[in-house]
Amino acid sequence: MDRFQHYIDGAFEDGSASFESLDPATGSAWALMPLATAADVGRAVEAAHQAFLHGPWPGLTATARGKLLMRLADLVQAAAPRLAQLETRDTGKIIRETGAQIAYVADYYRYYAGLADKIEGAHLPIDKPDMEVWLRREPVGVVAAIVPWNSQLFLSAVKLGPALAAGCTVVLKASEDGPAPLLEFARLVHKAGFPPGVVNILTGGPEAGQALTTHPKVAHIAFTGGPGTARHIVRGSAENLAKVSLELGGKSPFIVFDDADLDSAANAQVAGIFAATGQSCVAGSRLLVQRSVKDALLARLTAKAAAVRIGAPSEMTTEVGPLCTLRQRGRIERLVAESEAAGARLVTGGRAPKGAGFYFPPTILDCSGAPGAPCVTEELFGPVLSVVAFDTEDEALRLANATAYGLASGVFTRSLTRAHRMIRGIRAGIVWVNTYRAVSPIAPFGGHGLSGHGREGGLAAALDYTTVKTVWLRTSDDPIPDPFVMR
Ligand code: NAD
Repeated sequence: MDRFQHYIDGAFEDGSASFESLDPATGSAWALMPLATAADVGRAVEAAHQAFLHGPWPGLTATARGKLLMRLADLVQAAAPRLAQLETRDTGKIIRETGAQIAYVADYYRYYAGLADKIEGAHLPIDKPDMEVWLRREPVGVVAAIVPWNSQLFLSAVKLGPALAAGCTVVLKASEDGPAPLLEFARLVHKAGFPPGVVNILTGGPEAGQALTTHPKVAHIAFTGGPGTARHIVRGSAENLAKVSLELGGKSPFIVFDDADLDSAANAQVAGIFAATGQSCVAGSRLLVQRSVKDALLARLTAKAAAVRIGAPSEMTTEVGPLCTLRQRGRIERLVAESEAAGARLVTGGRAPKGAGFYFPPTILDCSGAPGAPCVTEELFGPVLSVVAFDTEDEALRLANATAYGLASGVFTRSLTRAHRMIRGIRAGIVWVNTYRAVSPIAPFGGHGLSGHGREGGLAAALDYTTVKTVWLRTSDDPIPDPFVMR
């Protein structure tokens, strides 16, 4: 069996405990992973704290930090095939997706490498004579970064990139499901030459997560995961009063009007819900379609769903692989059954195949008669599309916003004026018009409501890891006059 290690204070080490990681394609154990205890987490945070205050890191110029990030980007690019293989093996995400996504992850590090020495302070035209006042942008301190199983390299790049560019140090906790790619990535961090303690990477479950997020020396918690865990974290942050940014789930509407290019919409919808076997926070899991084109669109989608090549995620021809865990498949099976019981009509898929691996087929449920079914209201995090018909634009908007989530949305229409009305009306952090699931390091990403808050990507994300220091400098050599009058 393969073995992986933690990376703490610049050294590779076994965890205090270990666990076997399962290959989702076969259900068999394939690697031995370290499991962090609270004590391991404590050592990692202490190392990050020391590295933040002492040693070479705080003395590096922003340009030097940028160069380290650039070196890391090049190493990620060179190692992308190996990292992709590991992510595919450990999470079941198909190799076509992991290969392309990880190659692009290198560009996220490049973007933040370039940004490191562009995080500027400001000079203020202060309302007092003989006084210079300016603002310094300083790193907040130790960042606790926590990611879920899907896209671990991507979701950590949007935290590590801006945090390191800003001058913070990081303890990154990989998900206990599929941690292999991040533990391997630690070798690249080491090779890039980051000083010990600047980046620490470990894995573990809720115990490790809780120890990390409540640690008194953590200044910022950057979390991606589910809303339930987020609530724990926010409660726990009452201990250290750390700043918290949350990237949570979604129940994103994918809206198709009768003037849309239905072939494009169908392709985008297939990518939006069946890519990553639906384990995507921005999955367009609620299709809202204008009634007059519902049958035509559904016919296209059903044909595409039936033709999808399901198989071993390591094969380049595979389009839909297994889910990451058996637990996740069980949850999806239960929610599909409950949706049918609530009146949703199964159009295609819906039943897990017999045999090895955690597979679940592309599934479509017509929920026009069951607007309250779980597949309409809950994030399933699987390849399950709910379909609801609408008649008017107002109804489409009302249905789109009838969710506690607010992460992403898609609108397919040829009408420019309608597109603008929808962009204004939809309550979500992202609106894709006549496209879906596009991302870039340059574009902020995030949501509101149950989807969390904070934005990853773009310049604002780097500023989020800084704090403002206001400096007052008196420029007069005259003695300070009356000490009891505030000036
Ligand atoms: P999860 O919340 O169960 O786990 C996420 C991480 O939190 C894991 O590393 C886990 O070990 C850790 N964790 C668990 N308990 C903890 C605790 N008490 N304290 C601290 N950390 C703890 O999420 P999941 O089920 O693994 O992932 C799926 C969720 O992530 C979905 O809701 C999905 O939409 C969301 N997600 C969001 C985005 C985004 O950018 N908005 C991206 C991907 C996934």
